[in-house]
Amino acid sequence: MAKIAFVSLGCAKNLVDTEQMMSALETAGHEILPDIDNTDIVVINTCGFIESAKTEAIEEILEVAKLKAEGRVGAIIVAGCLVERYREELMTELPEVDAIVGCGAFLEIGQAVDAVLAKEKKAVFGDLNAPIKGQSRMLTTPPYMAYLKVAEGCDNHCAYCVIPSLRGKYRSRTVEDVLDEAEGLAEYGVKELIVIAQDTSRYGTDLYGKRMLPELLKKLADIKGIEWIRLHYLYPDEIDDELIDTIASLPKVLHYFDIPIQHVSDHLLESMNRRGDGKYLGELFKKLRTKIPDCVIRTSIIVGLPGETKDDFVKLCDFLKKHKLERAGVFAYSAEEGTLAAEMPDQVPEELKQRRLEIVTDLQSRVMNDYNERCMGKTLRVLCEGFDRYAECWFGRTYADSPDVDGKVFFSSSQKIREGTFVDVVIEDTLDGDLVGSIVE
Ligand code: SF4
Repeated sequence: MAKIAFVSLGCAKNLVDTEQMMSALETAGHEILPDIDNTDIVVINTCGFIESAKTEAIEEILEVAKLKAEGRVGAIIVAGCLVERYREELMTELPEVDAIVGCGAFLEIGQAVDAVLAKEKKAVFGDLNAPIKGQSRMLTTPPYMAYLKVAEGCDNHCAYCVIPSLRGKYRSRTVEDVLDEAEGLAEYGVKELIVIAQDTSRYGTDLYGKRMLPELLKKLADIKGIEWIRLHYLYPDEIDDELIDTIASLPKVLHYFDIPIQHVSDHLLESMNRRGDGKYLGELFKKLRTKIPDCVIRTSIIVGLPGETKDDFVKLCDFLKKHKLERAGVFAYSAEEGTLAAEMPDQVPEELKQRRLEIVTDLQSRVMNDYNERCMGKTLRVLCEGFDRYAECWFGRTYADSPDVDGKVFFSSSQKIREGTFVDVVIEDTLDGDLVGSIVE
């Protein structure tokens, strides 16, 4: 039996895969360790969908390879999207790697472990389009929150994206299977469920022939112990009245909408094979604000897409100024080999891309600060996440803050607070994108 440690890169969907691999190996009798030093095997679960993610993965592999050369790590197994994308090249270009595991074979990680323990090189791949179902997991998130992956793959085929080729076609889990896992997580003490997929709003269409997210949410909301249900990755044109009204009617489902739009220029959305135009997006956000006035909207924006003109960029900035989307991940377009967009004419020069990235990032940080200013004087429910020894105060998140991507609330309290408990905090100040306040004793 081996001492094994994991490094998980990329998105929350990848983290769930890591947790399933950890559990599969522990069940097989291996010891899963939190630290990579002095282990028999390090498994690096990679991301590989854009240049910066690829660079991060390769740097991590080379870092671990240094430890291997010093005899502090026995073998390296690389898994995930970088492996799926560079099946042929990866082991030849990185001879330090002992085995690779593709996105369709996470649960066959044991084969790779057995091979490297026998000092053999191994490549394990599986069916990228195989049906998916829940697996036992070793939770790596704090015990009061967990990601709930309801589907895998994607059928949207946005022109700039390689994910469908790495993760396969869209496959939902059954409602029963998802509920089973959610009930198990609630028994374990999870209070916040973050529902994820490449496209969460499409949930169920492949299995049930219709969108099943509203029905799933009603059932998840019935689970005792779960207090917050947060949705990520909603595709704009799949957000219909039924979904909005369901979210409005279920107190546990947070008024937090993660809706990647990427851009608002009609000709760019069309050339990127994105459904919905600028007018539709504007009306969607207006409808959300009308039906759910305290809703907080997160989005992701790509500047510098092939063919983006100055007019397109001005249109994007005007749209963001008008709709004040409280949270946004802003990226400069990265031409990825194997995508339609990378072959398109009118690629935007890198310098101009970076300039536009700066402008939108500034714009969005002003929008976020305005939102924080509007929180002043309000009493907000906060999920306490711990005590900050440097700031000497407690910290946590409100419904408007998703872990790792949004802000926090720092607050004072005369009492000791257990992580994972909900408290009320009156907001008294803002600080660098975060909120500051004191507990309502
Ligand atoms: S919705 Fe588009 S950007 Fe998102 S994973 Fe699918 S193809 Fe990629």
